[in-house]
Amino acid sequence: MGLWDLGLLGCQLVLYFSVLATLFGLRHRYGIGIFFCALGAMHFLETYLAATFYVAVPFGIVVSPGSTILFPGKIILLLLVYIREDAIAVRQPIYGLFAGNVLTIGLVAILGANTLLPGADQSPDFPFLDQMGLLMIWGTVLLLIDGILIILIYEQVGRWLGPHMTLRIAISGVAVLAFDQLAFWPVLHAVAGIPVEILYGGLIAKSIAAVAYAVLAGIYLRHFERRMFDGLAHPRLADVFDALTYRERYETLLERSGRDGLTGIADRSRMEAEAEQCTARIIASGDIASVLVIDIDNFKQLNDDSGHLVGDAALRGLAELLTRDLREVDRIYRFGGDEFVVITSGRAREDASNLARRLHRLAGKLDIPNLNAPLTVSIGAAHSPEDGNDFLALLSRADKRLYAAKGSGRDRVITGDDRHGEGHPELVRPT
Ligand code: GH3
Ligand code: MG
Repeated sequence: MGLWDLGLLGCQLVLYFSVLATLFGLRHRYGIGIFFCALGAMHFLETYLAATFYVAVPFGIVVSPGSTILFPGKIILLLLVYIREDAIAVRQPIYGLFAGNVLTIGLVAILGANTLLPGADQSPDFPFLDQMGLLMIWGTVLLLIDGILIILIYEQVGRWLGPHMTLRIAISGVAVLAFDQLAFWPVLHAVAGIPVEILYGGLIAKSIAAVAYAVLAGIYLRHFERRMFDGLAHPRLADVFDALTYRERYETLLERSGRDGLTGIADRSRMEAEAEQCTARIIASGDIASVLVIDIDNFKQLNDDSGHLVGDAALRGLAELLTRDLREVDRIYRFGGDEFVVITSGRAREDASNLARRLHRLAGKLDIPNLNAPLTVSIGAAHSPEDGNDFLALLSRADKRLYAAKGSGRDRVITGDDRHGEGHPELVRPT
């Protein structure tokens, strides 16, 4: 009898993997949602079988198809998603399954308050549901940990073994399933009185299942996936972990949304998101914060005379110059069409003013191919604490000085303390 049941478990394992791997393999044609939904749907049977259905296989081992076939299969398929896609793809089913499980627990909790139909054939087994709820809470947390852990172990094993797919999948699968079994059994024992033999039996059965799935996954990857890049480069474990736990999200969003397409430097939305805070930090630490507003002179004319593409090149050239000349800690933003904003700190007022003059000089020397006339810029600068104690006050004062620079003939710097510097008059418009 044991062999017959073992054979049936084998059939289930092959059927389960074949169908789900096929759906995964068809993702480029039909979308990956089909695979994710099918994987999620299997969760019901897995939980139900794990709680109610056990069979005996050889050597006196008793196993449930739920925890021996469906659960290990799900974990290995999650790893397969990571191998063929990336951490950003696989975290979706990992967190989706987690959310679905939590919702199930919530719904089951409400079920208990329902008024049951008198004389109904099937009354729910509430003690059983409560027991399941407890197990599901722990199982849900473990599943989240398992999903992340198997990927990190897979990457680490890859560093040691190189690109031996099947072996890497088998080792990480066995390790995580053993971890899961050891972590789940104590709760299973406490809640449902499951004996220690099930712990050992499960360890053996899950390890065998993990190896079988690894072999199938290896065959699948070799014969049914077109290109394999894996094994060529190992991503940093910390980066994988950050992606799996959504920690890269904020930075990536800023990276993606806050860049100016033409010059590659931070754009106005980024400035609005962070400049206020950045300036406040500088001032709170006792430093001087300086804001420079830099604007190209007669840029409209430049576009008209030399063409829009040359104008674009001038904007890129100026952005490069600023990036090159300023320090890592300084902030540079493209504020508008031909206007840039710089926040600099840790410089004495006079040094920040000299920086503005240097940038003005360097901009005048920029070599822009096909530019028919010399490029010049005007700069307005403002410094804390004299000109204000927050970003908006400093920006507005620097902007007024820029306006004054334009009004007094362009191609100059007005910093608020340069009445005698470089012979440019201070022409701040009355506030
Ligand atoms: P002023 O000296 O007073 O600053 O004169 P200006 O001609 O530079 O005036 P203003 O700063 O108002 O003009 C900005 C011009 O920048 C208007 C617009 O045609 C041009 N511009 C804005 N964005 C881009 C861009 O991405 N590429 C190019 N080539 N031109 C742009
Ligand atoms: Mg301009």
